Amino acid sequence: MGRLFGTNGVRGVFGEDLTLDLALEVSYSLATYFHDKPILVGYDGRHSSPIISKVVRAGMNALGIDVANAGLIPTPCLQFCVKRLGYKGGTMITASHNPPEYNGIKAIAHDGVELSREDELKVEAIYFNKNFRYLDHKIGDGTDEHRAIESYIDGIKSLVNADLIISKKLTVVLDLGNGAQAVTAPKLMQELGCKIITINSTIDGSFPGRGSEPTPDNLDLLSKTVQQNSADLGIAYDGDGDRSIFCDEKGNVYGGDESGAILTDHILSNNKHAKVVTPINSSALLDIIARKYNATVIRTKVGSVEVSREMLKSNALIGLEENGGFMYGKHIAVRDGAMTSVLMLELIASRSKRLSQVIGELPKFHQHKTKFKCTKEQSNRVVEHLTSNAKGKVETLDGVKIWVDDFSWVMVRQSGTEPVMRLYAESNDSNLLNEIVESYSKEIRNITDGP
Ligand code: MG
Repeated sequence: MGRLFGTNGVRGVFGEDLTLDLALEVSYSLATYFHDKPILVGYDGRHSSPIISKVVRAGMNALGIDVANAGLIPTPCLQFCVKRLGYKGGTMITASHNPPEYNGIKAIAHDGVELSREDELKVEAIYFNKNFRYLDHKIGDGTDEHRAIESYIDGIKSLVNADLIISKKLTVVLDLGNGAQAVTAPKLMQELGCKIITINSTIDGSFPGRGSEPTPDNLDLLSKTVQQNSADLGIAYDGDGDRSIFCDEKGNVYGGDESGAILTDHILSNNKHAKVVTPINSSALLDIIARKYNATVIRTKVGSVEVSREMLKSNALIGLEENGGFMYGKHIAVRDGAMTSVLMLELIASRSKRLSQVIGELPKFHQHKTKFKCTKEQSNRVVEHLTSNAKGKVETLDGVKIWVDDFSWVMVRQSGTEPVMRLYAESNDSNLLNEIVESYSKEIRNITDGP
């Protein structure tokens, strides 16, 4: 049997890989799998999203499933509303941070989290066997879910000290990246008394501003706007608003490891002994922070769904990825750019220090990420070679992670979405980090460029 779902739902170029015919059959498969109603459907700001949403809703209706339309919202808003408003499941039309020509269909369980791999297999079996089942139920003509945005905003505000944040009258620059947080994040922060300056704020599926994926390299405008306006903080979101990247009052942009570390410290300071879930490729900073509060760090394979499902299983309070995906268990065990932003506002409001000082006090780690073109067969050989020749401690939860000393490691793994091998490395010593990256890159090239 083939595969329908990739690491993050059904995804591909609209009209080529992801056609409306495919969307219709996926909707039949999801309707058969859910076999319960109602289901909530939302979509991001891509040009092809409204039509895919219409087809998916019509397909579910055709099998007797009542569907409500949440309209254009961020992915975490849809996920939160499935759980909070009592839907039996959800479907989000989004390709997250992928280029404009892409789109995708993401299936959400009744708990608001993406389906587990086990459940995806059930949907795939229905799809490939065309085993569609009709739910004997009279359907309505489709309703709109008007409560989504308000429920989401109120849900987030209820989990932080809103009065404290309001009292500080913070100035925040939001780089909305022409994406879906434009409908929620500015309103949320205005309600928290912030002065908001927005950039790339028009929703546009061609992502003309800085593309749909925020990285430290494409956030110059955010950085400058923060400095020009003497803002307290800058925040950038990806296309569907589940990831957030932060910039301090001086315009320095941080990776998800550093912003995640200070948020973890902030949350654990009020919740000692809690559990933190993070993939094996994120920084050792997390372990240092967790030790301060006797908290437990649970490492998973790479992938946000791995983190979410582990959070539910172990009843964890925090989940985080190095790419700016942060999860707060009291809200919902999925990445949420707006929830994360408001936790950051609370952190700033509760300290007498500026954000640059708070991050500056973290133990200093240097990170490096790179990738190599690589077939699956080559990547297996790389992993085998590095594993059997490793001198330090080796972990093989996902690809291979080799510890060079107590504070330095290198990890390689095959990408789940592209024919590339990714290398991650970290050290508290920048010279050692360069040496590690250079020597391991050479070993990988010896295999991938070989005859
Ligand atoms: Mg995303």
